[in-house]
Amino acid sequence: MSTQGEEQMASATNLAQNPGDRKQPVLALQEVTKTYSLGRQSTVEAVRGVSLSVAQGEFVMITGRSGSGKTTLLNLMAGLTRPTSGRVLFNGEDLWGLSDRQRSTYRNQRVGFIFQFPSLIGSLTAVENVLLPTMFAPRDRRLDGRPARQRAEELLGIVGLSDRVAARPRQLSAGQQKRAVIARALMNEPSLLLADEPTADLDERTEREIVAFLCEVQQRRNLTIVMVTHAGELLRLATRALEMSEGTLSEKIRS
Ligand code: ADP
Ligand code: MG
Repeated sequence: MSTQGEEQMASATNLAQNPGDRKQPVLALQEVTKTYSLGRQSTVEAVRGVSLSVAQGEFVMITGRSGSGKTTLLNLMAGLTRPTSGRVLFNGEDLWGLSDRQRSTYRNQRVGFIFQFPSLIGSLTAVENVLLPTMFAPRDRRLDGRPARQRAEELLGIVGLSDRVAARPRQLSAGQQKRAVIARALMNEPSLLLADEPTADLDERTEREIVAFLCEVQQRRNLTIVMVTHAGELLRLATRALEMSEGTLSEKIRS
């Protein structure tokens, strides 16, 4: 095996490890800041010194006004954005101390990401869309052929779309499209699900159904979820509620 291949295997094993120390958080942010530069003089401090520990199986919800830094924070957690200062740790490993290859393994294999404006590929059927993440997996971890397709169909069943497997996105309602996106985010069995307002623009009933489904997955599989939401009434379903305000994060007091 090539050195590169070995490195990849080692990283996959490292990242997959269940922390021996049960108290070790799945995800930890240490004094993380993110400053965007908007030209020569002007900067935006989107995230200002956020520290946070998330334990396995937690369902963390984050609320906050538009522009308060929520999306930036999720991108930092996903290893998509590099912090200006501070560290982001997954199972105790600094994401930005990893090689590019290891970091993409983290992004593709450990994290499921539901973007604020998710899109399915219009020319593919629902099941083909759900299968997409498997195509970016390293060869030795790739689930392909029938087993992959079976799993994708199973996931579509779990999100209530078993009769829409062959439908194209335009044949699905907005709520059904979100469900397919959730199924896609779960395809690689991530240990951490990051969701950026996954229920925005949905009616309240569909919203409740989708969040109830996420709660169920979180409990059944001990999945860790960090979700940004605008809907305050959903907070009671979270194990922890946080509020983002002008780049800082605080515990939200719930009545
Ligand atoms: P939220 O998701 O809470 O609405 P964001 O994280 O999207 O907040 O944005 C936080 C702040 O950072 C905003 O002032 C926004 O304009 C700015 N911002 C976000 N992304 C970028 C970027 N890529 N370049 C420059 N500024 C950005
Ligand atoms: Mg946002």
